[in-house]
Amino acid sequence: MPRFTNQIFKDLAIWMIVSGAALGLLAPLFLFLLSIPAEYCLRWWNFPISGLIGAVLGGFGFQITQRVVRPELRDLVQSMRVVEGAFREATFTGNWSGCDEGTCSVEVRSDDEIGETAQAFNELVAELIRVQTLEHASSELSEALSSKLDLEELADHAIELLIHHTDAVAGSLLVEKDGALIAVANHGLSDPGRLTRSDHVRRAMKTNEVQFVRVNPDVMIEGVVADFKPSQVLVFPIAFEHHTLGALVLASDKLFGKDAMWLLRIFQQGMGLALNNALTHDRLQQIASRDPLTSLYNRRFGMERLKVEFEQAAQHHVPMAVIMFDIDFFKKINDTYGHLAGDQVLVEVAAVSRKVLRDSDVFIRYGGEEFLVVMPGASAEVVDRVGERLRAAIEGYSFTDGHSIIPVTVSVGVAEYSVTMKMSDDLLRRADDALYAAKGNGRNKVVSLSRGCPVVTESPHEVVPQGDLAPA
Ligand code: GH3
Ligand code: MG
Ligand code: MG
Repeated sequence: MPRFTNQIFKDLAIWMIVSGAALGLLAPLFLFLLSIPAEYCLRWWNFPISGLIGAVLGGFGFQITQRVVRPELRDLVQSMRVVEGAFREATFTGNWSGCDEGTCSVEVRSDDEIGETAQAFNELVAELIRVQTLEHASSELSEALSSKLDLEELADHAIELLIHHTDAVAGSLLVEKDGALIAVANHGLSDPGRLTRSDHVRRAMKTNEVQFVRVNPDVMIEGVVADFKPSQVLVFPIAFEHHTLGALVLASDKLFGKDAMWLLRIFQQGMGLALNNALTHDRLQQIASRDPLTSLYNRRFGMERLKVEFEQAAQHHVPMAVIMFDIDFFKKINDTYGHLAGDQVLVEVAAVSRKVLRDSDVFIRYGGEEFLVVMPGASAEVVDRVGERLRAAIEGYSFTDGHSIIPVTVSVGVAEYSVTMKMSDDLLRRADDALYAAKGNGRNKVVSLSRGCPVVTESPHEVVPQGDLAPA
């Protein structure tokens, strides 16, 4: 239909009034055709009167149409404005919780073009929300990947976000570290260690291709021993510059959708670089904090940890203790069996001692053949007992240079934290004095000075350099 103005309702009014008037003008002729005598229907004033009546009827019809259609359109516009406001607010704040399908949609009230308009608007909003949600998830993931250098923290945060954004139920990140595949983060899988031996993981890492594992409802996926039965398990290899660094395993109780797969691809690309950075950081930290010969913490790092643990004990009034021990007559061992054998003895003393200690104990190579153990939470009784177990373990171990047995013993000084101590050096000094006393008491002994007087635990025998080790 030709348009007269830029307003549909005005055009509609013009069309209805003009066509009403035109039909009115023709009305006398219709009456004449219906055999009404000309003197009744073809009088000249009949035409303007019937034209006017037609125009009035057209105007009346327009009013009815307008009253039916306009409120519907106004309501639709109003609802669209509300949705647009909520949408703009959510885009601005990044919080989409207030703009779900219920609040960010308009009511579809009719089965016609107006209803279709509302429907199309709702679909557009839903699509925009989907894109915004994906965009938000991807930027949150990118931020997480670029903001953390610590391997465990990075992996933990990334898995948490991925599970949240992909609607997965459980996940684990496996990383190749020092030649072994280990689970650095795990959410919801009760035995992630088994995943490291999974064929799917191995295949994904070897081929650098994603493994989709559809799970038969009555089969438990290899390695995934969890509280739920997964429908699908995905294994994503994580690589950096063609070098596979690890794999991401995600399990869901339904199939992963298109959006989740898109997000996982984004993650896969970002995680390669982030994981490589974290591993490099981890290696540098390792180099900076470890003694290269024994792999124990070096003195610099150890002293920092001692200070931290000391402050914790002082602040929270919890016990802590230290053990300082030194290999007896080590110079003689070097002189007799050579420096290389001496090095091997140091490595083995560290390994044997480690087995006696808890994982939470901080084991430090304090000097050449001198070691320090910081034991958070250890009381006087515990540290005495551990000191003695340590001494006995070294004495009982067969050190050898390949030909002959090397007799190795250690002298041990123990000290526990007391409230009179102001700083970690006080604790260290007391352990050092105790070690000195152990040396003076015949070596191969455990001494504690903490309770005012030396307490020397009985040892089988005093050590004097024997045979090859006898003083010159
Ligand atoms: P004591 O029973 O009084 O502790 O006697 P000691 O011989 O063990 O003590 P001393 O301090 O006289 O000798 C320590 C020796 O440890 C001297 C040094 O050459 C040796 N040493 C220090 N670091 C290393 C190392 O990394 N490797 C080897 N093989 N020897 C080391
Ligand atoms: Mg020594
Ligand atoms: Mg020494």
